[in-house]
Amino acid sequence: MMAAIQASKSSQVVLLEQNEKLGKKLYITGKGRCNFTNNKDISEFFPELVRNPSFLYSAFYSFSNLDLVNFLQLPYKVERGDRIFPQSDKSSDVIRALEAFCQKGGVDIRKNTKVLGLEKEGDQFSIETNKGNLTCDRVILATGGRSYPRTGSQGDGYDFAKKLGHTIIPLKPALVPLILKDSWTQDLEGLSLRNVALKAQGDGKEELFGEALITKTGLSGPIALSLSSKINRWKKVDLSLDLKPALDFQSLDQSLLRDFDQNKNKEVLTVMKSRLPQALAEVFLNVVQVDSRKKIHDLTREDRDKLVHGLKNFPLHFKALDSIERGIVTSGGVDTLEVDPSTMESKLVKGLYFSGELLDLDALTGGFNLQIAFSTGYLAGENSRLES
Ligand SMILES: Cc1cc2nc3c(=O)[nH]c(=O)nc-3n(C[C@H](O)[C@H](O)[C@H](O)COP(=O)(O)OP(=O)(O)OC[C@H]3O[C@@H](n4cnc5c(N)ncnc54)[C@H](O)[C@@H]3O)c2cc1C
Repeated sequence: MMAAIQASKSSQVVLLEQNEKLGKKLYITGKGRCNFTNNKDISEFFPELVRNPSFLYSAFYSFSNLDLVNFLQLPYKVERGDRIFPQSDKSSDVIRALEAFCQKGGVDIRKNTKVLGLEKEGDQFSIETNKGNLTCDRVILATGGRSYPRTGSQGDGYDFAKKLGHTIIPLKPALVPLILKDSWTQDLEGLSLRNVALKAQGDGKEELFGEALITKTGLSGPIALSLSSKINRWKKVDLSLDLKPALDFQSLDQSLLRDFDQNKNKEVLTVMKSRLPQALAEVFLNVVQVDSRKKIHDLTREDRDKLVHGLKNFPLHFKALDSIERGIVTSGGVDTLEVDPSTMESKLVKGLYFSGELLDLDALTGGFNLQIAFSTGYLAGENSRLES
């Protein structure tokens, strides 16, 4: 929609959308509230980008978060983590604004129109749809990724780009829950772990601090989702949780000792329940192999070591990432080396432009993924339009 709006300033634009309405994915963003960008300075967006941050310099500086806010003309609010939402908490307001701009620009919106094929014939493109064929001078591919396919992003654009000679960097799930081999997660489904550090080692090293959520099959929540984007190309993944990241080994050991001194006749389970979410305490003792019924005065030095090591390095056994369909975004896509970052035009096919998640670009949560779509859409629209 953003690309169509910009292109319509001096070109006749047809927007082909296979769904019965525009912006089906946009509608479910931010749990229906649409975290459409972030209030950080645009220079601070780059560390939030997982793949190819430098490709986005032109796009972000040509159409920044502030430009987007001004453009949409919607009352907005800033929440935790500088996330920007419409004041109304309604993603439908963003969609309505974009659709209205399209109409104002005279964009010929054709809903229920699925693109089936795209070819270049001489200087023109030939587009095959379920409603007949079209020819045009320029094409902007903005078909999204392959996540949440029921919203329409089924990955068709990758095939079109590939047939026109583009390289597709292998697709991976991103911002997706982690599936673990640990069966205990079934019993703790829904338990939220706050102020923990999730650590991954393997092809690299990552440590993320914040909140994780235990699911039936593994781990979700902010730090698990973010971690998935960082490790989705690793071959080897070793995971652990630091349940007490504020204390180092020695301070934690000292603090446990003090606790034990005051509770000599209590069971270790009772003491650990005061240190951990209650539901986790029993599982924790099971995993670190300390008898939960043992009295504190019977604990050996070895038991205490197991407790301290368990609290600092609680082992998680990684099985896989959840499926690409369940990711918030798709990692991989059209190789950015084959696209001009200042125009979004293909370096291989003149007149072909790209925008959004179809490109090999993805970011962490916080409104950055939509800003990628808006900024690249803006550049593609601006640069694809015929001179007025
Ligand atoms: C649950 C969820 C929540 C999210 N929340 C946020 C958030 O709060 N903030 C944020 O920044 N990001 C969020 N994202 C990510 C963000 O929504 C996407 O990165 C963004 O929508 C990508 O925009 P796009 O225009 O590239 O693709 P899309 O929004 O996927 O749009 C692509 C469009 O192309 C159409 N299309 C595809 N193939 C064809 C075809 N062959 N013919 C015709 N039409 C076709 C599709 O129907 C679709 O309408 C969220 C994603 C999900 C799944």
